[in-house]
Amino acid sequence: MPHYYIWTIGCQMNRAESERLESLFQHLGYQPTTAAEDADLIVLNSCVVRRHAEDRIVNKINALKKLKFTPKPPTIAVTGCLVDSGTTRLQYRFPHVDHFFKPGEYPPWLAEAESFPVPPQQPSPSTYVPIIQGCNNFCTYCVVPYRRGREKSRPVDEIVGEVKELARRGVKEVVLLGQNVDSYGHDLPQKPDLAGLLYMLNVVDGIRRIRFLTNHPKDMSDRLITAIAELDRVCRQINLPVQAGDDEILKAMGRGYTAEDYRNLVARIRSRVSDISLSTDVIVGFPSESDVQFRATVGLLRELRFDTVHVAAYSPRRDTAACRNLEDNVPPEVKKERLGIIERLQGEIAADINSRLLGETVEVLVEGRKKGRWHGRSQNGKLVFFSNGGELLGKIVKVKIEKTSPWALQGIINE
Ligand code: SF4
Repeated sequence: MPHYYIWTIGCQMNRAESERLESLFQHLGYQPTTAAEDADLIVLNSCVVRRHAEDRIVNKINALKKLKFTPKPPTIAVTGCLVDSGTTRLQYRFPHVDHFFKPGEYPPWLAEAESFPVPPQQPSPSTYVPIIQGCNNFCTYCVVPYRRGREKSRPVDEIVGEVKELARRGVKEVVLLGQNVDSYGHDLPQKPDLAGLLYMLNVVDGIRRIRFLTNHPKDMSDRLITAIAELDRVCRQINLPVQAGDDEILKAMGRGYTAEDYRNLVARIRSRVSDISLSTDVIVGFPSESDVQFRATVGLLRELRFDTVHVAAYSPRRDTAACRNLEDNVPPEVKKERLGIIERLQGEIAADINSRLLGETVEVLVEGRKKGRWHGRSQNGKLVFFSNGGELLGKIVKVKIEKTSPWALQGIINE
């Protein structure tokens, strides 16, 4: 029986696409393997959003070269954001790779994947459902629009059908994915939107929770805030990347809002959904970011108090406007120091927010088991660990929180 091996790095979109491919391979009679040497078909799903990720994928591709000199050389394919429209350069650089294909643009030998039902045979209790591919925003630092192309929404019927099928197979939570979920539907004939989609999914039998990411502050609508406030299965959790707290930097990033616009949006959300959990993304060391501008970002984070902050140092990405037009002139040691400042600040804020859950009971969807402990997420996205001997995968259980940290909660079953 032939074997496949998939290696994935990067965002949830990549993970969702790898699940779709796995589903297809299993349908075609392939078995999964965790060792590339045992595989007949190898797929690497790449990310180049940061320099570090790009280095990892390049090392991985190079490490596979030796397999092409074995008695039964595997077929090697590379997808994800490393693959741009002109693959000639990549073919020249990595001649041992048989196929390069852009995310979601399946080559003829994988054409079936386009319409193939996700996820693999054994879906996880919480499963990703892509609703829109690509991005039209062209933030100046971001390579995604160049690699994933323009926005392309999936039809409403297709998404609802898929979620019903997932529910039938035991899935309890769906996470709707897109680089910018707030753009969902503008390119479809009836112009549906994310809020409308949430109302439809909220009544699918068996689905207990619905999440979505990522939002864009300039595009998030009041209709969506109303949907979150009204719908019982839509989780009170929003990922709303701010990227910087200084208007000049935001403008240079091409984000389309000011720090004040962002504050006002957060205030609107919190006034309608008081228990909302907010996370954000920040880039430090964007070209010419001064100390004063950096401190504006720190001030904003201190003021708005997010549950989670994903912080990264700017790294120039080929093709992007920032890479072409701006000098990467913040020294690496300054970027590192700024990263540390935000990580420490956020550690304190998250520790304080989470400590308020001590003694509380939260509902957890159990997603897996690690080192003898079950783990899952609370309704508002907190990672929770607890011990219990029974089989709980896919169940929603009540857990009393006994210990908290900035990153996770621990507790005991309380039923
Ligand atoms: S919104 Fe901006 S950062 Fe997000 S994927 Fe689109 S271009 Fe990239």
